[in-house]
Parts: sequence; structure tokens; C-alpha cells
Amino acid sequence: MLIGSIALDWKGNVAFQSHAHTDHFASAKIIFSTKETAYFSHLRNSKFYKIVKLGKRFYIGDYKAKLYPSGHILGASGIKIWLDEGTLYYTGDIKLEKLRTAKKAKVPRADFLIIEATFGVPMYSFPSPKHVEKIIIGEVEKSLDRGETPVFMANPYGKAQEVISILNAHGYAPKVDNAIKKVSRIYSKFGVKLKIDEESNVIVSSSRGIKVSGFGSIKLSNHADFWELVEIVERVNPETVFTIFGYSRAFAKLLRGLGYEAFPIKKGEDLRKSGLLSI
Ligand SMILES: [Zn+2]
Repeated sequence: MLIGSIALDWKGNVAFQSHAHTDHFASAKIIFSTKETAYFSHLRNSKFYKIVKLGKRFYIGDYKAKLYPSGHILGASGIKIWLDEGTLYYTGDIKLEKLRTAKKAKVPRADFLIIEATFGVPMYSFPSPKHVEKIIIGEVEKSLDRGETPVFMANPYGKAQEVISILNAHGYAPKVDNAIKKVSRIYSKFGVKLKIDEESNVIVSSSRGIKVSGFGSIKLSNHADFWELVEIVERVNPETVFTIFGYSRAFAKLLRGLGYEAFPIKKGEDLRKSGLLSI
């Protein structure tokens, strides 16, 4: 979306990119991001990224801004901007509960909140990552006991590395495909060491196997579930909430029921032009 000429995970004069999943790729002469996001993005594009450290003050266009870790994948961040109309915080994709391979999310207070709503309805209530970890290891042991090869399917940008890290912590170094290997190398560069073994009889794949996802059969998600989303809204304590992605309409409606001013917005929408930035 846009705030005048500033783009958030979108195209504009100057942009912020929250993380390296392609549906969040920004386009601008200058794209602000974390160093990790720039490295991951360069596996798939050759744009110019201006690196910003988490928690360090900088200027995006004419406005003061700061990045906060969002817990989603390594390097993922949200942004707070001090606009003329008030402060605004955009979550990007966010996970509140700590994952092994990403920094724990930090959530600032703000007047306006733009929050992702991928899982923004109450039927999405995920078990804790620690609990899912037991399910994954249980699945490995059950398969190996039967003489079968456990195969887990995970997104090669982030989720696969989380699964590898879980397996490593329980003494398994899995075999992975090239898509996962490429990204894992960058994780290692940033200090997240992942053990991989070409000969292993445990497999993590980007294309086949038991799906590890909030939408899959093993519910390890790197997105907030409905209850985490509500907790984020409570912590930010905004005057107005804008919901985006996934269940944006339903989540906005549910938030209105809880007493918040909440509106669904579209990816390319300019909030200033729409007149939505007023308290
Ligand atoms: Zn994402």
C-alpha cells in the first residue's frame, strides 16, 4: 500500500519491504529493508536495497521511521513511521510466538495500525510452536520405526529452515532439495546454523511430503493465528486499524465488534488519498 509517495511492500518513489516473500517485493529507486531481507531478495531480483538496522532511527521520504522484528522469517520486520497525521505501524507478515530461526517479534504502540490478516478468523487457532515440534518429531520416529522415510513439505523461504532447525535440535540432519539449500546458506551466513545430510533418511522438501503450514496438516505457521492478531492489536492500542491480506474483511468486521475502528484495505491502496488517515 501507499502513504502518498511512500510504498509499503508495494511500488512507489521510496519503499519499505518487510521481508523476502515475493508477494511482498517492493519496487522503487530506494527500498529500505533489513540486511537479511536484501540478501534473500537478491536470490530472485537485483534491486537496490538500502540496509537499515532494527531499532535504528532513519528517514523514509520526509518521515522518521524505525524497524521492529516481526518474527515471521529471518530478517522480517515491521515499520513504524512518524507521519504528520500521527504514528503508523505496519506489521508486514508477523508471528508473535518465538520461532527457532527468527528474532522474537516486537510490537510498538501507534495511532494507526496496518495488520496482516492471513489467518484473521477464529477458526485459525494454532498449537504453540513447541507443541508442533513434538508432533514433527513423533512423525519422524513413527515413520523410521516402520522403515519408512519421513518427508516434510515446507516453503523454502523460512519454513523449511525452521523444520530443519527443529530436526537438528532432536538429533536429525535432514536431506533437502536445492531450493531449500540456497536459502539455508544465507541463514548460516547470518548465524543460524543448519545441519544438512545428503545421505539422511529424513527429508525436507519444497515440493512434496506432509505439508507443514497453517493451511497444512502439521500446523506450524510463521504467521500469527487469529488470537495472536488480536493480541497485536491490543498491544499497539491504535485509534484505527487497517487490515490487509487473507481474511482482511472478516477480521476488520470482528475487530469492529470488539470496539475498534477497523477497515479492510487493498494492496495498492493509498491511505492518504482514501482519506483514511485522520483521527
Ligand atoms: Zn511472508
